[in-house]
Amino acid sequence: MRLLIKGGRVIDPGSFDDIADILVEDGKIAEIRKSSKNKSKKEKKPSQKKVDKTIDASGKIVTPGLIDMHVHLREPGHEYKETIETGCAAAAHGGFTTICAMPNTNPVNDNRQITEYIIQKAQEVSAVRVYPVAAISKGLKGENLCEYGDLKDAGAIAFSDDGRPVMDSQLMRRAMEYAKGFGLPTISHCEDMDLAGKGVMNEGAFATKMGLRGIPNAVESIMVMRDIALSELTDSPVHIAHVSTFESVCAIREAKKRGARVTSETAPHYFTLTEEAVGEYNTNAKMNPPLRTDRDRNEIRNGLVDGTIDAIASDHAPHSSIEKEVEFDLAANGIIGLETSLSLSLQLVVEGVLTISDLVEKMHTHPAAIIGIQNGLKIGSLADITIIDTEIMHEINSDNFLSISRNMPFNGMQLKGKAVFTMAQGKVAYTDDSLI
Ligand SMILES: [Zn+2]
Repeated sequence: MRLLIKGGRVIDPGSFDDIADILVEDGKIAEIRKSSKNKSKKEKKPSQKKVDKTIDASGKIVTPGLIDMHVHLREPGHEYKETIETGCAAAAHGGFTTICAMPNTNPVNDNRQITEYIIQKAQEVSAVRVYPVAAISKGLKGENLCEYGDLKDAGAIAFSDDGRPVMDSQLMRRAMEYAKGFGLPTISHCEDMDLAGKGVMNEGAFATKMGLRGIPNAVESIMVMRDIALSELTDSPVHIAHVSTFESVCAIREAKKRGARVTSETAPHYFTLTEEAVGEYNTNAKMNPPLRTDRDRNEIRNGLVDGTIDAIASDHAPHSSIEKEVEFDLAANGIIGLETSLSLSLQLVVEGVLTISDLVEKMHTHPAAIIGIQNGLKIGSLADITIIDTEIMHEINSDNFLSISRNMPFNGMQLKGKAVFTMAQGKVAYTDDSLI
C-alpha cells in the first residue's frame, strides 16, 4: 500500500521546511522529496513507484503527528465521561497522533497493572499512541511514593499527581530524586490547596461581583517557585503543567535564565479567554487553574513567544452534564480540549503571535523532547502525520465531536484553520470531509 501526500508545506521544525511530497509505504515514511524546485521544467515525479492513493496537500501544512501531553482519559472508572477509545478518536479528530494520559482515573494509575491496561487497551482500540503518566503518590494521596521502577518498566513516561498538587515538599523532593534515578520527568500540578481554600474562580473584582470565592494567582506561583527550587535542589527535570498566571510565567522565565531544568505548558483556554467567560455562572468556563485576567493572558502569550512556555497541551478534562449542570460552586473543574486545541492555537498564528513553525514546535517537537519520545518525520518510521488546513473557516460545534463529553465554552466560535487528516502509526485515523 503506497500513499502519497503531495505538494504540502512540510514542516519539521529544526530540520525541514519546504514544499514536498511524502510517500508512505506500508505505513512507514519511505520518502520525503522537495517538490518546489524544477517542478515545472522536469515534471519530476515524487517517486518512480506507483501509488495506490494520493492526497493533495497543496496549500496545506504537513507536520509530524501532533502531541497532546496533558489529557484526562476517564478509563478506567468513569467511562461515561470518556473511554480510551473515544478519547483517541477525539485526539485524531483534533490532529493528535500521540497523547499522554494523566493518572487520576479510578483506580488511580499508581501501579503497573493500570499502566499496562491503558497501553494495551489503547493498542486494541486505536492507532493513536497513548503514553501513560503514572502517579507520584499512591492513590494521589500525597503520602507514599509509587513504585517508580515498576511503573517505568510497564511503560509510564512521566510522573504526576495531576488533578492534585503534592503539598508535602519533602515528598516532592523525594519524588524528584527518585524520578531522576529513572530518567523520567516530574509533571507538577501547581496549586497551594490551603491558599486556594474553597475558591472557585479567579480572585478579584469580577469574582466579588459574582459573589463567588476567589483563587489568587499566588495559589499557582507559590508552587511553581517551590517546584523550581526543588528541581534545582535535586537536579531533576520538572515540567509545570497548565500555566495560567503572569507570576508563574515570570518565575519560569527567570529559572530558565539560571539554567534550571524546568519546562512548561499552557492550555489554549489560558491564551484565549479571561475570567469574564464565566459570565452568567457558566460552569463550562470553570476549570482549575481558573481563567485569569487580560494581564495574565498577555503574559502567557509573551511566554509562548519567548520560549518560557515550551508546549501547548489541552488538559482535556471530560465531564458529563451531571457534573456541570449544577450550581457553579458545585460544578466539576475542567473542559474538553482535544478537538479545539489546534484550532484555538492556530489563532495565535492568524494573529501573528507565533509562526506556524513555532506552533508545530509547541505541539510536537517540544512535547516529544519533554517526555523523551522520538520526534520529527523519520524515514523508515511508522508514519505519524498531521495535515493542517490553515485557511479553512469553521465554526466550533460540539455536536460534531467524537468525545463523549461536551463541556467547553467555545461553541459558536468562528475559527480559521483545523486538522484535516491524521495518520497515526501508519494508519489513517481521521480524514476531514473537505479533503475527500
Ligand atoms: Zn492539573
